[in-house]
Amino acid sequence: MEPTIVRCKICSLKEGHPGIVLDDQRVCSLCNLDFAGDLLVNYKYTNEVFAEFQAAPPDPRGEFDCLFMYSGGKDSTYMLDKFVNEYGKRTLAYTFDVPFESTHAAQNIKLAQEKLPATFVVDADDDNIKKMMRDVFNRPRPKKPGQYLDEKLPCVSCRTFFVIRAILHAYREHIPYIALCADPQQILTMESNVREVVRGFYKSFGPELASELFDGEIEEILFAEDDELPKIVFPFIAMRHDYDPDRMVAELKEKGLYASSPMETHCTLFPLLNYYSFKNWDCMFYKLNASSYTRAVSRNKDYDRSTFSIKFPRSLDLPEVEEKLKRVVLEIAAGEGDREQHRAALVELFKQMDTTDDGAAFIAETFLDMRAVAADLGIKVG
Ligand SMILES: [Zn+2]
Repeated sequence: MEPTIVRCKICSLKEGHPGIVLDDQRVCSLCNLDFAGDLLVNYKYTNEVFAEFQAAPPDPRGEFDCLFMYSGGKDSTYMLDKFVNEYGKRTLAYTFDVPFESTHAAQNIKLAQEKLPATFVVDADDDNIKKMMRDVFNRPRPKKPGQYLDEKLPCVSCRTFFVIRAILHAYREHIPYIALCADPQQILTMESNVREVVRGFYKSFGPELASELFDGEIEEILFAEDDELPKIVFPFIAMRHDYDPDRMVAELKEKGLYASSPMETHCTLFPLLNYYSFKNWDCMFYKLNASSYTRAVSRNKDYDRSTFSIKFPRSLDLPEVEEKLKRVVLEIAAGEGDREQHRAALVELFKQMDTTDDGAAFIAETFLDMRAVAADLGIKVG
């Protein structure tokens, strides 16, 4: 008989999820809002920095008021328009070309370049970001209980990598602010002090690899004077209460700044990210997002707005979907089982998660290719 899995009775997070504890009423620390105090402090600080940024006059030391991290997605396109046309900031729109991401956003970037009065720059460093990813995936199994977001380590590391690239760029060019358009949920888990961003990366990868990945440059950030360092601002903080993706997309389309694509932020590592979270933490990659949605629905029966880019239908049996996905993902990773059966199971699962027929077929295919993608990157699976 399988051991009984204990889950939070509100959001269904499993006991042992990294960084989460269940109390004796079977309610998890997220549902109990144990983090509320920390979150308020974080909000207050980010609000203050954003207000300071908005009021700041042009900095005479440099050509730009801010480096704006521009992905071409709806959030950052919406905000970039506001920065240049409403706030009147001298903006360097900085795009890091992540080699794992599909190029669906390229068209939006082109539209923005044609229509918005900002300076655009594209940065890339395929070799080093792949080297970092190999290191994350090929690590031995982490020790329990782990920390909040550990199941998303490859994804978090990728983001941190290009945020550090942006920090170095802003530091070199004397750009005082970096604007980062994370959605309201991501902001809560993001470090806003650039020195802490670098320090966290150092801790995770060790001084030798960290230094190698950035050509010895990040040590400068650790020892720089405070007023030489850029500050990170999260412009979505100001509008967190009415963050409404559908309205934003409608506004952008009206301005001719957006060509919609259902696969906007598609990451080619998505299947491997799930493999990583199942193998190391026994959960699917989007578990926290799904649980957060479940929590919102259980608190407010009329809740129907998702603050994330993915949707989880109300009727979804999360534990069941997760167990099925786990079986298929681990079998594919191990090179076991039947390809057509895997395909059918995956299509069925993604259709249950509100994906269109075409979308489900497409995502299923990427999961079936998991081993090839891993081999290509030098990642060991199975
Ligand atoms: Zn919970």
